[in-house]
Amino acid sequence: EPKKKLMDDMGIKRAITRIAHEIIERNKGVENVALIGIRRRGGPLAQRLAERIEEIEGIKIPVGILDITLYRDDLTTLAAQPQLHRTEVFFNINDMNVVLVDDVLFTGRTVRAALDALIDIGRPRCIQLAVLVDRGHRELPIKADYVGKNVPTSHTEVISVLVSEIDGKDEVVIQDI
Ligand code: 5GP
Ligand code: MG
Repeated sequence: EPKKKLMDDMGIKRAITRIAHEIIERNKGVENVALIGIRRRGGPLAQRLAERIEEIEGIKIPVGILDITLYRDDLTTLAAQPQLHRTEVFFNINDMNVVLVDDVLFTGRTVRAALDALIDIGRPRCIQLAVLVDRGHRELPIKADYVGKNVPTSHTEVISVLVSEIDGKDEVVIQDI
């Protein structure tokens, strides 16, 4: 099956800019806001959001990383197990409005594991979720507060998110496997 482009570099840039504004507005500023990216591609996306927010508000906000991988035999299994490998959050999340950032939201299991990890390391005031792509198929009651693009998918479709920091270019494509 041929690949279909869902977002180009400008589309991703505009989505980041919009979400940055939405985070600022929802939190009435960014005094107590922190961003935590989920490895791997949530990391650069969180960093870009922080840079954009700093350009707009003139405030540097802390950025951390959670390394969580999901083991699933195939994309349809209900038994996927997330595993937390590493936590790189070098600031206090107590009383912070923490925004989790990931590239793709699918079943919600990775985010659930991220919530566990965050609650283990502190007492945030609230936790919000930002994703570049929501592809649907939730298996848990989890929803994103900020979405770059909603993409209804079938289970056999896979979305590739490329970011220049890792992949040398910015692009989101969908392909049926
Ligand atoms: P979930 O835990 O919600 O089932 O899946 C989300 C995690 O798996 C995210 O960290 C995301 O990186 C990855 N993921 C799930 N589906 C896709 C997809 O179609 N494309 C990409 N690039 N990542 C996906
Ligand atoms: Mg991931």
